[in-house]
Amino acid sequence: MTSHRINPFHVAQQQFDQAAEMLHLPDDIRAILRVPQRELTVNFPVQMDDGSTRVFTGYRVQHNLSRGPVKGGIRYHPSVDIDEVRALAMWMTWKCALVNIPYGGAKGGVIVDPKQLSPGELERLTRRFATEISILLGPEKDIPAPDVGTNAQIMAWIMDTISMHRGYTVPAVITGKPVNVGGSLGRVEATGRGVMLMVREMARKLGWSLDGLRVVVQGFGNVGSTAAYLLHQLGCKVIGVADASGGYYCAQGLDIPAMRAHTEQHSFRLLDGYRAAGVERISGSELLELECDVLIPAALENQITGANAERIRARLIVEGANGPTTPEADAILGERGVIVVPDILANAGGVIVSYFEWVQGLQEFFWDEQDINEKLERIIVGAFQQVYAMAGQRQIPLRLAAYLLAVQRIADANLTRGVYP
Ligand code: NAD
Repeated sequence: MTSHRINPFHVAQQQFDQAAEMLHLPDDIRAILRVPQRELTVNFPVQMDDGSTRVFTGYRVQHNLSRGPVKGGIRYHPSVDIDEVRALAMWMTWKCALVNIPYGGAKGGVIVDPKQLSPGELERLTRRFATEISILLGPEKDIPAPDVGTNAQIMAWIMDTISMHRGYTVPAVITGKPVNVGGSLGRVEATGRGVMLMVREMARKLGWSLDGLRVVVQGFGNVGSTAAYLLHQLGCKVIGVADASGGYYCAQGLDIPAMRAHTEQHSFRLLDGYRAAGVERISGSELLELECDVLIPAALENQITGANAERIRARLIVEGANGPTTPEADAILGERGVIVVPDILANAGGVIVSYFEWVQGLQEFFWDEQDINEKLERIIVGAFQQVYAMAGQRQIPLRLAAYLLAVQRIADANLTRGVYP
């Protein structure tokens, strides 16, 4: 992966600048929106199993609070840094505005490889990090969720930690929790379901049949494995997938249910050790360059860059990950006629159902899964139609169209509220 060479925050600012220019936003609004509103860095000790104490560094960044409390995941990964968290927080602002849910954007992260920690160490790290950032958190202030390297159990520990501090249970302080402690049905699959819906909608526009459509998925975690599974169920042929253990390719189509079952046996949900007749092992870069109809990057940032965009042989890219395509790559793909459904639309299913989880937690009344999936579909398909129409009217790529809609909503909210004092 080339994720360290390109600064994701510079990418996010570049994308914003392009939209701001086209919207003729006043300079003062641009200056406000180009940077996060609040940033907290925490260095905190964790007692390790061998009795030693290690100090970890984590962040919580709130980009914009003009439309409501802020929302965004927490990432545990060795390559987390402040600029990555800033970028992810800014993208959350645009995403929530684009799908019109009443949140601003935030993100958090800890520099850690969770695979190197024991379950006890992971729990202690999580509870201490939650305590350190608790000055920012609350159902009416800042509501985290899972991201790379975190999961429902980690969300449960955060909810429990904040609840212990307050002395009563606060389910709406975090989303992506297990269902037995106030999580929402459909939340685990929500991001991948949204990605599937975006593939389906784009295929409809292009007049493509889903039956036998060749799909390649990079990343086989929460987002990638769900998207692969749901597309497989719709009759698509998932010919390649990759995770941190490498790539797997089968021209006849991979057995996605069997691969998901394999990851469930593995302690870190990896495909490592998966074997089946006709399945070839390939490298991560070979995977991205496979000839296919739809490529779904669902791992980390900066995967499709100026260095490999010429070699991408997909006709459509649907961004499950945040920030997988750099602006330089976007330009090359655009010239080559490759359509990109941008991250702030394609992976918005997660935050939409997180919003439902928060609403259900606040009202203490829970909906059934069919209800949730129908509401998710209505919102994300509605946003897709708006973005697609805007792209058509202005003859611009889908990413820029999505940015124009989202940035305008945030700029309007800032203008309406005014500058305090
Ligand atoms: P996850 O931790 O569940 O999965 C990440 C996957 O990427 C794993 O399969 C991992 O093995 C794989 N990966 C890591 N390094 C890789 C490499 N070098 N090559 C190929 N694969 C590699 O994380 P997730 O929640 O599925 O998140 C994936 C992406 O989707 C991130 O960009 C995240 O910000 C974004 N996203 C997640 C959600 C959500 O609800 N979880 C919502 C919106 C966006």
